[in-house]
Amino acid sequence: MSESTLAVPVEAASGSPVYSKTNPYLATVLVNEHLTSPASEKVTIHVELELAEGMTYTPGDALGVVPTYREEAVTELLKALGFNGSEKVIEPVKGTPGNEITVREALTSKLGIGKLARGAVNQYAKLAGDNAPAGLRALLGSENKAALEDYCWGREFVDLVTDFPGIVKDPQDLFNILQRLMPRLYSIASSQRAHPGQVHLTVRVVTYNGHGKDRQGVCSGMLGFRAPVGSKLPVFLDINDQFRLPADPNTPIIMIGPGTGIAPFRAFLEEREVTGAKGENWLVFGDQRIASDYLYREQFEAMEKKGFLTKLQTAFSRDQPNKIYVQDRLREASDELFAWLERGAHFYVCGDASRMAKDVEQVLLESIAKGLKGTPEQAAEYLKKMKAEHRYERDVY
Ligand SMILES: Cc1cc2nc3c(=O)[nH]c(=O)nc-3n(C[C@H](O)[C@H](O)[C@H](O)COP(=O)(O)OP(=O)(O)OC[C@H]3O[C@@H](n4cnc5c(N)ncnc54)[C@H](O)[C@@H]3O)c2cc1C
Repeated sequence: MSESTLAVPVEAASGSPVYSKTNPYLATVLVNEHLTSPASEKVTIHVELELAEGMTYTPGDALGVVPTYREEAVTELLKALGFNGSEKVIEPVKGTPGNEITVREALTSKLGIGKLARGAVNQYAKLAGDNAPAGLRALLGSENKAALEDYCWGREFVDLVTDFPGIVKDPQDLFNILQRLMPRLYSIASSQRAHPGQVHLTVRVVTYNGHGKDRQGVCSGMLGFRAPVGSKLPVFLDINDQFRLPADPNTPIIMIGPGTGIAPFRAFLEEREVTGAKGENWLVFGDQRIASDYLYREQFEAMEKKGFLTKLQTAFSRDQPNKIYVQDRLREASDELFAWLERGAHFYVCGDASRMAKDVEQVLLESIAKGLKGTPEQAAEYLKKMKAEHRYERDVY
């Protein structure tokens, strides 16, 4: 997004501007460094941004980042579409006649031209109508759902346009084919009390090879490759009242955060450290290899050495023949886990929603059942009560 396309900040009652998804703050990048070493199979970065006065957050909140596509990706798509980029289109804006912008601007910051959606293929075919080529028709209808799914995997919109060219004649039609490009959320990895005027993020840079081409996630790619120190990024705060430290600083906390799931727990720990909270802290971190993937190792080990971080467990899945994950570490400590819960500990999980969060919940239930010497139903009841008391909170994606 260019600066000129951003709306002027509106004033809050207090006089400070209100920043939001549609009215982001242009934050200066202060630090952008790798947390993983070159030997890692992944790239995870630590990004520090400056925040405007009046932008305040609480540990547990997220930062929204408004992404833009890289110029080469947009140019490649314009070429495939046969447009020069300066053609005018109207960006529909609710309740207004819309904004006139160039098609290059639309493809850079308004429309999702990355990961190909099934809906985009259907809309594209609809636009082609009776002229839809046989290969495109073979992806339509409920009987071809699997073929469509298969076609979309690892492809982007440019691949569809290249495979079936000449269908979009009026660039305005792109607004009917593609979804809007949405901001991405990142769990905040810092305490504002520890870092006044700043916000820190822990970002896994998404890169993969799809059908012979190197691809990037739009937002993590922007943060990883196109956000050098001194550049500006459009951001806004996203409040999450469902993921909060206990109100009582003496309450123990257990935090399960593999990979980038560590982010909010760095914020929690920094906040408790800076405020002198006396409650016990238990952190479980995991990733592939200790040598290349141990995020914020020095900071956590220093906290452990001081006795502030009561218990630090790590699980590095690829460092031994049998895979060890965070849930395995938790299972090893199940008696202690139950003892902490009985002392009123809050239990937090952040990171991968697809498997890790479910596996961790299973171990939690097993540990509760064992501790209670009870049935799975009694364990489920105990966990239900924890949820109702906001003692079991998850930030999974
Ligand atoms: C509340 C919340 C908090 C979050 N916190 C964090 C955080 O702290 N750190 C963090 O890094 N992320 C976090 N995320 C995820 C983040 O918002 C983005 O989803 C992530 O960075 C990817 O966005 P992107 O724009 O880079 O990728 P996109 O352009 O959205 O592309 C990602 C897509 O690429 C496709 N893809 C990826 N790999 C492959 C492959 N090998 N083959 C084929 N297709 C593939 C997938 O379809 C995937 O959905 C959080 C999400 C939420 C909702």
